Amino acid sequence: MTLAARIARLAPSPTLTLSATAKAMAAEGIDLVDFSTGEPAGDTPDHIKQAAIDALAAGHTKYTPVAGIPELKQAIIDTFARDQGLHFDPADILVSCGAKHSLYLAAQALLDPGDQVIIPSPYWVSYPDIVRLAGGAPIILPITAANGGTLDPDHLAAALTPRTKALILNSPCNPTGAIIPADTLDAIAHLARRHPLTIITDDIYRRLVYDHTPCPSLATLAPDLADHTLIINGVSKTYAMTGWRIGYAAGPRDVIAAMTAIQSQSTSNPTSIAQHAALAALRSGPEFTAALVRHLDTNRRTLVHALNTIPGITCPLPAGAFYAWPDITPLLGTTHPRGRIHTAADLAAHLLRDHHLATIPGDPFGSPHHLRLTYTPAHDIIDKGITRLRQAIKALT
Ligand code: PMP
Ligand code: GLU
Repeated sequence: MTLAARIARLAPSPTLTLSATAKAMAAEGIDLVDFSTGEPAGDTPDHIKQAAIDALAAGHTKYTPVAGIPELKQAIIDTFARDQGLHFDPADILVSCGAKHSLYLAAQALLDPGDQVIIPSPYWVSYPDIVRLAGGAPIILPITAANGGTLDPDHLAAALTPRTKALILNSPCNPTGAIIPADTLDAIAHLARRHPLTIITDDIYRRLVYDHTPCPSLATLAPDLADHTLIINGVSKTYAMTGWRIGYAAGPRDVIAAMTAIQSQSTSNPTSIAQHAALAALRSGPEFTAALVRHLDTNRRTLVHALNTIPGITCPLPAGAFYAWPDITPLLGTTHPRGRIHTAADLAAHLLRDHHLATIPGDPFGSPHHLRLTYTPAHDIIDKGITRLRQAIKALT
């Protein structure tokens, strides 16, 4: 059978592929330490599960409005107002099957063939493929350490062309954990006022920040750009609900309407029961997420401290999200009994196969010199993973 040409431009999600491998190895009985999967390790809170059970019992088992049930849209509106001082109407909101789906719909709604989307690198693995699937051209903009690990507005200005359609911001960033500071956002807003640009801001990790670091938002700093700003968020990370598949978009009404039309012709609506669970999540107090952040903070410090004591590895302390992003450059060129390590992908493969430690290589995030380690597991698993990593690196020659 001949597949569509667009399939040749598509790579399956490497994060999902690797975490599936890790989960399969664990299911086979292998004593695996999994630092690969980008999700909270703990279960969804009981009151959220109960809301789903209640929704089932109450017969919420039919199609819902395409863009989401009104109560959930209202809870999303209330959350934006409470957390960010942003004001939306129901017509400005679309609930989808995860933030990834919201991003997919945004790309499908916004991009014509050849439209360029600027993606600061390192970036979350799915952005370039989502852009390419919509016929767009991802323009990768390397981030230099000089600007505190986030986008340099001068580099952004130099990358703008008449074909530039959108810019994707992700703060805190997957994989680096970096938060984009307010002055950088101000400079980006200044550029966006002169160059017609849609700014897609992926805020999925904005509640997962440490040391009370502020996480400024372009939408709040530049309300005059509301017609050009599309916010993506969801419940996956904040409420340990990755499997429920609920994310949402908020922004210009015409873009939301276009995304809703695509959703109406594809998934119809996100799962009714999951929407009721997301409603309970957004209506709940801050306790669950506060406890999650405390757990992650301890792991973050333990893991990053340990990484910096392993020769050949350096790692900054991430300000948000739940990933460590160590630089492993000095380890490239070393050997192990089965071969030589040329890239982070080689190192990750060696760690998985020979030390049963699952990590994600930096290559699909835009850097063959880094590894990504998720620090969501229980504290003792973090310690076990560190021991394995230390032994593995020590044995390299
Ligand atoms: N954006 C980023 C940066 C992510 O890391 C993820 C991870 N899943 C998503 C979006 C998508 O989240 P979900 O589809 O589970 O809402
Ligand atoms: N976003 C998470 C990650 O980066 C989950 C997997 C995915 O959707 O990519 O690992």
